[in-house]
Amino acid sequence: MTNKLRVLQWYMRTKYFRRFRDERALMEWQERQLKRHLRFVSDHSLFYSYYLQLPSTNGYSAKELLASLTPIDKRVMMDHFDTLNTVGIQKEEAFMMALSSEETRDFSPRIGTMTIGMSSGTSGNRGLFLVSDDEQSQWAGIILAKLLPHGLLAKERIAFFLRANSNLYESVQSGTIKFHFYDLLHSLQQHVDNLQQLQPTILVAPPSMLRMLAVQQADSKLTIAPRKVISVAEVLDPLDEEFIGRQFGQTVHQVYQCTEGLLGATCEHGTLHLNEDLLYVKREYVTADRKKFMPIVTDLFRSSQPIINYRLNDILTLREDPCPCGSPLTAISQIEGRSDDIFEFLSSSGEEKVSIFPDFIRQSIYSGSDRIDEYKVLQHPSRDLEVQIQVQGDAPIQEDTITASLTRTIRSHGGVVPNINFTPYEPHQGLKKLKRIERL
Ligand SMILES: [Zn+2]
Repeated sequence: MTNKLRVLQWYMRTKYFRRFRDERALMEWQERQLKRHLRFVSDHSLFYSYYLQLPSTNGYSAKELLASLTPIDKRVMMDHFDTLNTVGIQKEEAFMMALSSEETRDFSPRIGTMTIGMSSGTSGNRGLFLVSDDEQSQWAGIILAKLLPHGLLAKERIAFFLRANSNLYESVQSGTIKFHFYDLLHSLQQHVDNLQQLQPTILVAPPSMLRMLAVQQADSKLTIAPRKVISVAEVLDPLDEEFIGRQFGQTVHQVYQCTEGLLGATCEHGTLHLNEDLLYVKREYVTADRKKFMPIVTDLFRSSQPIINYRLNDILTLREDPCPCGSPLTAISQIEGRSDDIFEFLSSSGEEKVSIFPDFIRQSIYSGSDRIDEYKVLQHPSRDLEVQIQVQGDAPIQEDTITASLTRTIRSHGGVVPNINFTPYEPHQGLKKLKRIERL
């Protein structure tokens, strides 16, 4: 089957057929898909056949089976790469290819029908991901189904900003939909010129880039009118969301995606829903009130490098009230970011350390002024906090208010308050992911 037909097939399936009456229908469908997929994976991957130890008959609960197993993380996945993938690709070979693609920025090399992707991370901790042609078509169909505001027949010019090009994104092309790729490495001026000419109907970029473009739009150096603005690849801070939304006169939508999979997307109300029509997501709660969790995902369709019971490092916060769209897919109020960026303080009782989630730190910063333009809060290895704030115009920075608010927050969690220092705001640059709250 040609790629285009496959794209269309997945588009139709996602948009029209995979709609669930209620949560129960979704659960039952997931269980059936899990059984089918786990059987396939067990038959084709040596690693997973040992890991899963599937019963020979279907009379078991796939969700209970997964719950009984230790989740897989990136390290396990990389350590067992060769026996885990179902297409016989060796880690060594894949690594060499991914590295040379990043260096030359030529993303066409492949192994057979497989595209190799590499996740960002510190050296030695980078993940390798394989995607087949068929999985690419699948991905493209799903993305289009979830994101196109007016369906496949409307004419769209999509401007897509990415850290690195890959074959994956180029597969999203059809007669009426024109997809334009922009390399984040190029200069802002180049982007402004290109966008001005293209006049995209859909703008997709990391929030740091959306923000830079929004500033240009505010200064009338850029005059585009996208009908949809979509944030990808970085945590979208509410402050940036508001600013970007205001400049483009649009709700800022989000795609929650990483190399491990397409985890979520916003509905027409701008609420982020987990893609539980593609994935089974277990929750590992990290707070006693069960509002924040780390997702453990099983991709129900990915077969060349199956993602089974895989723990992501992200912390997600559940949305409290149901989304008006009525979807049974879990609604998320916020992606908090990587669990590595949770701040840690000494405990005032001296027993164990105290962890504070980014949203509490964020709230403390907002308390300092309602005219904050940009900010960063860094926690140094010494546990000291460094606060960088940029305000609009000549509004004063209320350092005392912010310090007092941070102090209150840390104390209320039972933590020892470290030194809190203010330094000038350092603008975000280059390819580094923008993190407003970061533990160094
Ligand atoms: Zn919704």
